[in-house]
Amino acid sequence: MSRSGAAGALSAAAAATLLALALAIPAAADAPAGGLGAAVLARLARAGGPLPADRAVAVRFVGTLELEGHYSRPHEVNRFHSVRRIAIAAPGIARQDWTTWSDDDTTRSTETTLLLPGRVLVRDEEGGTYQELAGRSAAQAAYAIYTAAPALAAARALQANGRGLAGGPRTSTLSIYDWPDSIGRVQVYLDAFDQPTAWTTFIAEPRLGSLTQNVNYYACGSLGERVWPDSLRSEGLPEGATWILREGRAGGEEPVALAELAAPGHVEPAPAPADTVPRVVAVSPGVWAVELADADTRSLAVEFAHELVLLESSCDVPHGERIRAALRERFPRKPVRRVAFSHYHPDYTGGLRAFLADSVRVVCPGALAGFVQEIAHQNFTVSPDRLARSHPGGVNALVDTLVAGRWSVSDATNELVAIDIGALSHHTDHYVIFWLPRARLLFEGDLGYFTSNGAVRASRRAAGLLQAVDDAHLDPLTVIQSWPVRGNPPSLPFAKLRELAAAAKQ
Ligand SMILES: [Zn+2]
Repeated sequence: MSRSGAAGALSAAAAATLLALALAIPAAADAPAGGLGAAVLARLARAGGPLPADRAVAVRFVGTLELEGHYSRPHEVNRFHSVRRIAIAAPGIARQDWTTWSDDDTTRSTETTLLLPGRVLVRDEEGGTYQELAGRSAAQAAYAIYTAAPALAAARALQANGRGLAGGPRTSTLSIYDWPDSIGRVQVYLDAFDQPTAWTTFIAEPRLGSLTQNVNYYACGSLGERVWPDSLRSEGLPEGATWILREGRAGGEEPVALAELAAPGHVEPAPAPADTVPRVVAVSPGVWAVELADADTRSLAVEFAHELVLLESSCDVPHGERIRAALRERFPRKPVRRVAFSHYHPDYTGGLRAFLADSVRVVCPGALAGFVQEIAHQNFTVSPDRLARSHPGGVNALVDTLVAGRWSVSDATNELVAIDIGALSHHTDHYVIFWLPRARLLFEGDLGYFTSNGAVRASRRAAGLLQAVDDAHLDPLTVIQSWPVRGNPPSLPFAKLRELAAAAKQ
């Protein structure tokens, strides 16, 4: 996805995952010793045809991408045009050039993914620097390419023989083979003529839970030596988003210079696994920040006489669990009883299930109550989280909704006001900011400021935030922000934010 197109809507933050998956097909403990026989392997090989020897070929797919990214409301989908060129060479060597753009885009750029043996590299645009991918991002990027090129997929399946490749005929017209791949357990469906009709993969996603990721082929056929689909529908799960891509093949194979699939001279290494230990930092009396460097998120724990209120829950369930564990250790007598979030995007609501398992009350605008219930009922059967273990069918979340856009709680220890600034966020339909009048502290999700080339700047959304603060007659001394954490000051004097926003206007 090009930067000007769909990728701009994805989170730059969601880099973290617990699943450190290798790219190699993992060894299966229960693998049949000898693997499948020659006849079956021949069927699988026929399902893709041979890879080109000592040369490369490419096929072009044209279609539409529906992206559920970080938009105004849950499940909002944006549509993009899509052109993909898939080039394949020896086993494990391939290249995808993917251009996506919306009707409003004035420029286009092409994202390139290179598969090299055991490696996945990506660059955002032509002439850009390649970056090495690791873990789940690498597995997802590679999967999108394998599934578009049956010859590559067949080679991948054969590589799993003796390492978990299993299956056979299910009916007279359908055979299913499966193996444990780096993305999850993959099933490939072959028809009576050994043509692939679908891939299904069983995914355990740390935020969304147990999912099937599907690719359907409509009419696979031989183009010379190899099999290619006439059209396909595929599902993608980049971190923090989901997409559906519907494509038709435009023309046949074209030759590609092998040099296009060579390892580039310079590659940025995959980011080192960041610190995964939560840092609990005192912000002001009775207010604590919980920073998760690897998730690039900051939550706030507000202390009351008998409980904590947590603001923002990080990006996924494992990170929510880490916040919970850190707070239980620091405040053994004060459980988190309420959790609020600024807006529905993954980096703020991804960890809610860790707290829903404790029957907390979730504070949010009424329009998002259904979204919270959805999270409370997600399917986590493949890799059950604590909520799925205690309540296999999900829970009915206890939700306290804002009334006339506000919610507040106070006692002798602290005071907290949640305010929905809605459209003034210029980000989501509902957007809650948190005001702590006794500390004159404002906590917001991702509207205020960021650091670029060593300088702190006001975000484009800061003007709306300042307007909302003035409309509500708040007089903060300090603003503290949830995202980004890495390379960004944890807080700013509020006057400084005003200054930066004024400077940005000019
Ligand atoms: Zn956001």
